[in-house]
Amino acid sequence: MNLIFLGAPGAGKGTQAEIVCDKLGIPAISTGNMLREAVKNGTPAGLAAKEYMDRGDLVPDEAVIGILKDRIAQDDCKKGFILDGFPRTVEQAEALDKMGVNIDKVIEISVPDEKIIARLSGRRVCEGCGASYHLDYKPTKVEGICDSCGAKVVQRVDDKPETVLSRLETYREKTAPLKGYYEAKGKLVTVEGQEEIADTAKLTLAAING
Ligand code: AMP
Repeated sequence: MNLIFLGAPGAGKGTQAEIVCDKLGIPAISTGNMLREAVKNGTPAGLAAKEYMDRGDLVPDEAVIGILKDRIAQDDCKKGFILDGFPRTVEQAEALDKMGVNIDKVIEISVPDEKIIARLSGRRVCEGCGASYHLDYKPTKVEGICDSCGAKVVQRVDDKPETVLSRLETYREKTAPLKGYYEAKGKLVTVEGQEEIADTAKLTLAAING
């Protein structure tokens, strides 16, 4: 089962991908997490990506497509995968098609803009393993410490208010057209993001199995 989770930043793609990948036994692949890891490790790819990420812009297609291609070639992806945050442009979607990857379903998690802003301001991520949290909706058991790996949980630089608006604009301009791209292929299913994570997870699993 190859799935794509589509949605604005903060819609809950990462959180839902973490839940669904456990249930289906396939990995969740977040290009954002992979890029943040590369930035943290100071690799050439990370250094090249950092300026785009800090501004809330997309990293150039060639770079992200290369990273994704290498990742899905790994053994743990043989039974399928969930893509969280890829594709983000029509060019990236076309690149997936050219790689011969068959996508079974594209789950769009839809959340109104006004809710997105509030969600992003409370979002926190683990510096160690990339797990996502939220001060109100999914707090860590111990303040500031990741439940899974014990590393520090922090606010992403690009979740600060000045960058959030630019990321939403980028989403509308470059990523939202993917809805039409996958709708035309009969693959798009839209789930309304709910207040409670568990409620969205029920709808997401129903959309995948339906
Ligand atoms: P995310 O964690 O998915 O919100 O991604 C964080 C940042 O990483 C984005 O704002 C982009 O700068 C970059 N990024 C992640 N995935 C992609 C992608 N598929 N294409 C281009 N840039 C990406």
